[in-house]
Amino acid sequence: MTAKVLDGRKLAFNVSKDLKKEIAVFKKRGANVPRMVNVMIGDDEGTCSYAKSQKKVARDIGIEYNLKVVSAEINQSEFISLIKEMNADTKVNGILIHKPVPEHIDYAEAASYVSPSKDLEGINPVNIGKMMMGRTPIIPCTPASVMQHLKSTGVDLRGKEVVLIGHSTIVGRPLSMLLLDQLATVTICHIATSQAGKLIDHIRRADVLIVAVGKASLIKGEWIKPGAIVIDVGINRQDNKIVGDVEYESASQKASYITPVPGGVGPVTVVMLMRNALEAYKIQNESIMKAKDQ
Ligand code: NAD
Repeated sequence: MTAKVLDGRKLAFNVSKDLKKEIAVFKKRGANVPRMVNVMIGDDEGTCSYAKSQKKVARDIGIEYNLKVVSAEINQSEFISLIKEMNADTKVNGILIHKPVPEHIDYAEAASYVSPSKDLEGINPVNIGKMMMGRTPIIPCTPASVMQHLKSTGVDLRGKEVVLIGHSTIVGRPLSMLLLDQLATVTICHIATSQAGKLIDHIRRADVLIVAVGKASLIKGEWIKPGAIVIDVGINRQDNKIVGDVEYESASQKASYITPVPGGVGPVTVVMLMRNALEAYKIQNESIMKAKDQ
């Protein structure tokens, strides 16, 4: 069996098209376009290129993207004050804290100050709580990207054995909730699963295998159940190349669908950020939109 490749660039293009259409409708009604701010602490060249690609995607969709670079000397309380200012600024619809942040900044604490209605990463505790109850459209971007990929296969997840490797707060944990919403049977594995020597047993029975670890080629193709769907979230630099957590060539011979790295989960994640920007904008403008419809 050779797996069908889940082309993230194509999927990102298709989802972007839908977002673009929605924004065009708002523009036609004379509303402002959604405006987002990416706050970057310090001016790191490597992560700047990521911001540039976000800007390009935002522009293409019709979202105003502003990069706010603040001094690397900023302290935690000054940073939180800045977030509060942006929360109060009606010209800002969405806020993103650029990662990585310097060591002296507590990212999780800072992120909890971003207003839930402007939280583009869906990581404010209020949004995480609402997500668990299925009560917010603002979903963490990478888990949302994985769900888009799974949706694109057309496979019903109900009752499927989904094995998720990685239990981080930005990927594994929120993703497990979204999978549960689809009535999948979800197993979450992590470092201790490996240390207990049980990882391969879990992988062997997975109808859907999702890997978000950050270790190049950790997962071998021979462990994968024939016909499984394989979603590789990992991004690792190896011999000057970007590779995933799954051994791509051997896994492609066993899986029914597989995401490549690069070009799989990543491009759709950026578009999910834009979808959150649009959802945040809609939450903030709900009453205006309703009034215009009447
Ligand atoms: P993290 O370091 O916060 O979590 C890693 C997880 O892997 C933990 O649950 C840990 O217990 C588990 N783990 C580590 N070694 C293991 C092993 N040998 N066996 C089993 N489990 C093991 O990482 P993260 O922030 O969730 O990111 C994971 C990967 O996904 C990274 O490569 C990151 O770059 C990538 N990532 C990609 C996107 C994207 O949009 N494509 C977004 C976020 C993260």
